[in-house]
Formats: sequence, C-alpha cells, structure tokens
Amino acid sequence: MITMALSKGRIFEETLPLLAAAGIEVTDDPEKTRKLILATNQPGIQVVLVRATDVPTYVQHGGADLGVAGKDVLLEHGGEGLYQPLDLKIARCRMSVAAREDFDYAAAVKQGSRIRVATKYTQIARQHFADKGVHVDLIKLYGSMELAPLTGLADAIVDLVSTGKTLLANRLREVEPFMDISSRLVVNQAALKLKRDRLRPLIDAIGAAVAKD
Ligand code: ATP
Ligand code: MG
Repeated sequence: MITMALSKGRIFEETLPLLAAAGIEVTDDPEKTRKLILATNQPGIQVVLVRATDVPTYVQHGGADLGVAGKDVLLEHGGEGLYQPLDLKIARCRMSVAAREDFDYAAAVKQGSRIRVATKYTQIARQHFADKGVHVDLIKLYGSMELAPLTGLADAIVDLVSTGKTLLANRLREVEPFMDISSRLVVNQAALKLKRDRLRPLIDAIGAAVAKD
C-alpha cells in the first residue's frame, strides 16, 4: 500500500488535479465523510487527512510514504528525513511582515529598536530578522495573528499573505513581503528505496502534470 498525507482545504483541493493527471482519483469527499483514510480508484493507494503542520511528521516517521506540505510548514519542521523532489506550485502565497497602520516599521528598523513580533512561524521569522540584523522579541501564537498588533500584544506579525484582504479588514499594512511560498511533494526517504518501483512513476507523473500548467 502507498499512503499519501494531505491536509483538508486548499492543499487537498489543489492536489486533486495533479493526482488525476497521474490517473489517481480520490473516491471519498473529505467535506462529506468523517473518514480520515480516503480510498482512491487504485486499490494500492490511499490518502490520509492530517493537519497541515502534521504532514512532514507523518512522512518523516513513515505514517505516510509521501505527502504535500507548504514551504512554510517544511521550514518550521526542519525537513529532516524528507526527500523533496517537486515544487508543486500550488497553494501559493508569501510570507510577510505586517504592522498596524500607525506603526512606523521602517523607522523602528532604522533606529535599531527591539520590535515585538507575534507569529506562528518562529523559525522563519527568527531567520529573517537575523539576516536583516533586526532585534526582535518573538511571541509564539497558534492562530489569529492579526489580533496581536491590535491588542498591543505585539508591534508586528509575520504571517502568510495571499490577497491581503485579511490584513486590510484588520487595518494592518503589509510592510515587508520576504519569501514566496508554495507547496512541495515530500517523500519518506526509506520508502523511496523500499517502494521505489511504485513511488518513482507516481512522482514522475505528478512532476509531468506540474510542468504542464
Ligand atoms: P488550519 O487552518 O487547520 O489551522 P493551516 O492554516 O496550517 O491549518 P491551511 O490554511 O489549509 O492550513 O494552509 C495550508 C497551507 O497552505 C499553508 O501551510 C500554506 O503553505 C498555504 N497557505 C496558507 N494560507 C494561504 C493563503 N492565504 N493563500 C495560499 N496558500 C496559503
Ligand atoms: Mg488556515
């Protein structure tokens, strides 16, 4: 059996056409079933639904042979034990610094002030500000980052942005986009050796589907 880990929502939706191009159709609809293991039209391939941040963990430890995870999630995880053969170019967005409209981020950076930054992405944020030589106090959050500057918890946030609508609705300003994000195919390194005959053609077919659009 080949097991593929996907997260519900945009990654699942955007991976489906790539799987279809490889001849794989998921026969259960995650929005209609409570099942966490979904069958496909191929008896030897199943899909497991996990949290986006759990995909690298499942694949690293062999709970799944392969999976799809955002570059953000992979950088936070560290990528240990994962082979990353393909950028699938799906779930695209960017990692940005955002602040309240009345916070002068550029001036704070220039003055060398300590900036309080709230984020779910502490590894990515730490690396970004270290590269820039900016002093920050990082505050780890698990969601609703937009609230942090509005309540005075932080001066700025580091978060994913696609349209910018969420920032605008909360009167925040994107002050520094710094990393393009898309989702990658990740494969368990041991599985790639042991199940190579079945995984390699699958990876190649998905790769061909990505190259087509
Ligand atoms: P949950 O919503 O269950 O807390 P999550 O926010 O990590 O988990 P998603 O919102 O489905 O899960 O995001 C999954 C991946 O999609 C992210 O890791 C990121 O790579 C990408 N992503 C997140 N937000 C956006 C966005 N606004 N536009 C495009 N891609 C995004
Ligand atoms: Mg989300």
